[in-house]
Amino acid sequence: DELISQIAAGEVVERPASVVRELVDNALDAGATQITVRLLAGGVRLVSVEDDGGGIPREELPIALRRHATSKIGSLADLETVGTMGFRGEALAAIGSVSELSLLSRCAGQPSAFLLDGRSGELRPAARAIGTTVEVKELFFSTPARRKFLKTDATELAHCIEAVRRHALARPDVGFAVWHEGKLVEQWRPGTREQRLADVLGDDFLSQSVAVDQAIGPIRVTGRAGIPDAARSRADQQFAYVNGRFVRDKVLTHAARSAYEDVLHGQRQPVYALYVDIEPSRVDVNVHPTKIEVRFRDSREVHQAVRRAVEAALAAPRA
Ligand code: ADP
Ligand code: MG
Repeated sequence: DELISQIAAGEVVERPASVVRELVDNALDAGATQITVRLLAGGVRLVSVEDDGGGIPREELPIALRRHATSKIGSLADLETVGTMGFRGEALAAIGSVSELSLLSRCAGQPSAFLLDGRSGELRPAARAIGTTVEVKELFFSTPARRKFLKTDATELAHCIEAVRRHALARPDVGFAVWHEGKLVEQWRPGTREQRLADVLGDDFLSQSVAVDQAIGPIRVTGRAGIPDAARSRADQQFAYVNGRFVRDKVLTHAARSAYEDVLHGQRQPVYALYVDIEPSRVDVNVHPTKIEVRFRDSREVHQAVRRAVEAALAAPRA
């Protein structure tokens, strides 16, 4: 089972940022309103994610680390309508198989928190407010071949921050903080979506973008599309969400790009944050373990909806 987990880890855990993504997913699933990420050496030596969510009951701590252990599917029918960010129950097992993982958690109604050491399996009472802290130390320490593929700490840190940015743009109602080597490097307070966009993408993003908001058939597209500005034209500033989940998707990217080409003739890497809400049965989120890819039942309708929504926004007279 350890070996299977390590193989699964190959798909789920590529670098510290993958750990950040999975742990923040779990914190959001647990209903956190504040999430604090602490990193050492770009996350290679430590990724710690602290939340104020519902916590994990003492008896479920060891189970959470097992493969296919998930508290998020009640029945097979739920598989069709996965509302939460994760459901496979693979992430913690996979991460634990290539690191030193510990879980510190406390639920409402429990007299204390409990700390589970993933390596030894030791479980003991500890101190903590309600919520969970997951610590992942020495990523890939036992698989030096994979550790070798990691980049400099600065690069790994940048990827970790990017992972948090993606979540932060999806959940403006949740506060996020990122610490590196004991220094606060990012902090986003809870607020409106507009506020979060300004905080994450820069204050000038609001004045240099237009609101997108259009429903076409079963698809609603909201967000903001940046007005071209050479200085901001970067490949990593396109954020697309499907039903609240960050995705990388050719259909969406192409639709947005087409809209820019039609209306503004040319701008290839505009800044945007687009939120596509679509009836869950029209999209399959289980294409890849990291859930970053989706498959639409009818990609043409999605392409058209996004293209038209962005076109309408860009073509509208600006105040
Ligand atoms: P999944 O998220 O797909 O269920 P994971 O391996 O990521 O699988 O997590 C396993 C289980 O551990 C979750 O289903 C949940 O019950 C529990 N868990 C993990 N992280 C947290 C957290 N931060 N707060 C509460 N429960 C958690
Ligand atoms: Mg998960």
